[in-house]
Amino acid sequence: MASATLALQSGQAPDTYQAEPIPESARAEIDRLLNSGDLFRYTAPANAPVALLEREFAEHIGARYALAVSSCSAALFLALKALGLPRDARVLIPAFTFAAVPSAVVHADCVPVLVEVGRNFRIDLDDFRAKLDGADAVLISHMRGHTSDMDAIMKEADARGLPVIEDAAHSLGTLWNGRKIGTIGRIGCFSFQSYKLVNAGEGGMFITDDPDLAARAIIMSGAYEHNWKKHHGLQNSFHYWQNKLPLYNMRMQNLSATVIRPQIPLIDDRVTAGRSNHDYVAERLCTSVWIDVPPPLPQETRAPDSLQFNLLGFDEDDAARAFQKAAARRGVSVQVFGLSKDNARAFWNWQFLGPVPDLPKTREMLMRACDLRLPARLTREELDVIADAILAAAAEVKGA
Ligand SMILES: *Cc1c(COP(=O)(O)O)cnc(C)c1O
Repeated sequence: MASATLALQSGQAPDTYQAEPIPESARAEIDRLLNSGDLFRYTAPANAPVALLEREFAEHIGARYALAVSSCSAALFLALKALGLPRDARVLIPAFTFAAVPSAVVHADCVPVLVEVGRNFRIDLDDFRAKLDGADAVLISHMRGHTSDMDAIMKEADARGLPVIEDAAHSLGTLWNGRKIGTIGRIGCFSFQSYKLVNAGEGGMFITDDPDLAARAIIMSGAYEHNWKKHHGLQNSFHYWQNKLPLYNMRMQNLSATVIRPQIPLIDDRVTAGRSNHDYVAERLCTSVWIDVPPPLPQETRAPDSLQFNLLGFDEDDAARAFQKAAARRGVSVQVFGLSKDNARAFWNWQFLGPVPDLPKTREMLMRACDLRLPARLTREELDVIADAILAAAAEVKGA
């Protein structure tokens, strides 16, 4: 405590890479699990922590079915498999996303088709429309919680009968026209990896309102033999799919669910605090002529725990690098997506895809777009230290 106060007094930047602590209320149940060894979700006849989490998450998000799995990447893979897409099906994904997303598509024996992303971090709708011909499915990554225009995307996809999967890994709590993100497409996928809003180290969730998709995903996630009977309300669908689907074993275990459950009631407060932190720093950064923070779309109420901004007038890569260094000297770590070597969010590093297409818009954005973590727990004073450092770094390189 004393050292925290001291750090603040000297205007030191906070450590934004620290994850959220796990609520104290999880401890008793963790102890019970450690004592009993009851870690596998299908051992208990009913009410295992994973099953309870699924019910609570479905209720929180407003979906009929929720399936807890080992990661959001696993949920994305199961989503593609549950849709029954044939080998080499073409799946549209934004070119600005995390490498795990095209990887999930490859894992499902499908072919990712990268769609341009503009300087507002959202899917370029002209390029999206141009690539719809020949597409079999659409996977929308709401990267860093920036929501692409879901009204336009759903309209185009519905008109062609294309299924839409939402990668809402980093969007828990975001609203679109007042509706929770992840519930707009046929399937929504969420992450509980430590740098997301809910921290379980690792973990993911698959949601849908479609009983057949739910049944298929549940079986493939590893509900072998008659373990599906521990998931409620899908008996007919399960009977149909029994023994007809491969088991990929991507289950969540009880310890993870126990770490997540007490965080579900905290989501709304974290979202409110994260948004208020984000908007405060965004407003301060926008006072600089060298910085642009793209606004949310009108339909969107964001739930950010990080802030992305574009450097303006930084024509040379070296100027952008100098800005990064100047911020780092002030204790604030800012990453320019396209300038950090081997960045997993820069599409040209996805060499496992083979030759990647030229995507000039996305490339231009990535070369000047900055990534700044901004966890919900930060205080106004800490936010000011961060904003001051960034404004001073931009002024140092470009002039006041
Ligand atoms: C974190 C993240 C993922 C991957 O989630 P995991 O749970 O780590 O597999 C996928 N997409 C986006 C947009 C993410 O932010």
